[in-house]
Amino acid sequence: MIHKAVILGTGPAGLTAAIYLARANMDPIVIEGPEPGGQLTLTTEVENFPGFPDGIMGPELMDNMRKQAERFGATFKRGWITDIDTSDRPFLIKADGLDIKSQSVIISTGASAKLLGIAGEKENIGKGVSTCATCDGFFFRGKKVVIIGGGDSAMEEANFLTKFASEVQVVHRRNDLRASKIMQDRARDNEKITWGLNKTPIEVLSGGKKVTGLKVKENDSDKEEVIETDGIFVAIGHRPNTSFLHGKVQTNETGYIDVKPGTTKTSVQGIFACGDVQDQHYRQAITAAGTGCMAAMDCERYLEGDASIDWSQTL
Ligand code: NAP
Repeated sequence: MIHKAVILGTGPAGLTAAIYLARANMDPIVIEGPEPGGQLTLTTEVENFPGFPDGIMGPELMDNMRKQAERFGATFKRGWITDIDTSDRPFLIKADGLDIKSQSVIISTGASAKLLGIAGEKENIGKGVSTCATCDGFFFRGKKVVIIGGGDSAMEEANFLTKFASEVQVVHRRNDLRASKIMQDRARDNEKITWGLNKTPIEVLSGGKKVTGLKVKENDSDKEEVIETDGIFVAIGHRPNTSFLHGKVQTNETGYIDVKPGTTKTSVQGIFACGDVQDQHYRQAITAAGTGCMAAMDCERYLEGDASIDWSQTL
């Protein structure tokens, strides 16, 4: 069976694309990966998605989008995508056990927060280690927290965390911050923020149940010290989920998919990309949803304008 359109990923971009394509009678197949609903399912309240004056919980918003897509006929399948054969059309999408053929593909596999890879980090996620200040800052009211990173995200999240925490220490591996001057100035002007610069994190310490400290190495002296803290926020950037492409669709040097400016068209005709997998800068639910709509419209126009497709073979 050859499908008209397959959407990879079920964050706001993929689900918006699914709603639009389903309403256009394209019967999209939507492949759900390991994190159905994407990053918003790790969030608590979303206050900046237009249309919800009192806010909405992230998982509920994603659930609503999914129901809306299903209502118009989108079909959901679970699978970890391992490869796409782009050498010929229909494209062949491989997702553990599932082989799916489709005339077009929309990639909306998002991005994931990077981890440091140090001892004690992974096992303490949810016990004091977090990659999302917006999601978890609330739990650290009146407590001491550390934020790791020297980029704009770290500065933004450090400022955000001062709304809750009694002290926020920025730990960064160099003396110079990577963040833009305005973001640095904002953080430096915030009296609740302290600085642990030129220090490399080496271990997350915990008593088994919750984080108690961060062991760091002072880079000039190699001296180790323990920063006592209740929470550790890792803000060292995101990695786009594009490893399954194996270079078959053009990406930039950091792995984000290149799209033709002002469109969602990738380097391969018939393959479109939307959401965080192609967006290093805005990374908002609403911008992801917006590009999801664009991808569906680009895809629909592509399919309708393509006389070479034998529609009798599609669903
Ligand atoms: P980023 O700019 O890549 O910064 C990542 C930071 O983490 C860097 O300071 C880096 O250190 C540090 N880091 C990376 N790997 C590390 C490791 N293994 N151990 C310790 N530290 C490590 O990422 P980002 O801050 O998430 O920003 C990504 C993009 O989004 C940027 O273009 C940024 O401008 C944009 N953004 C904009 C805003 C805004 O304007 N409101 C807010 C957030 C993000 P080094 O500096 O030593 O490399």
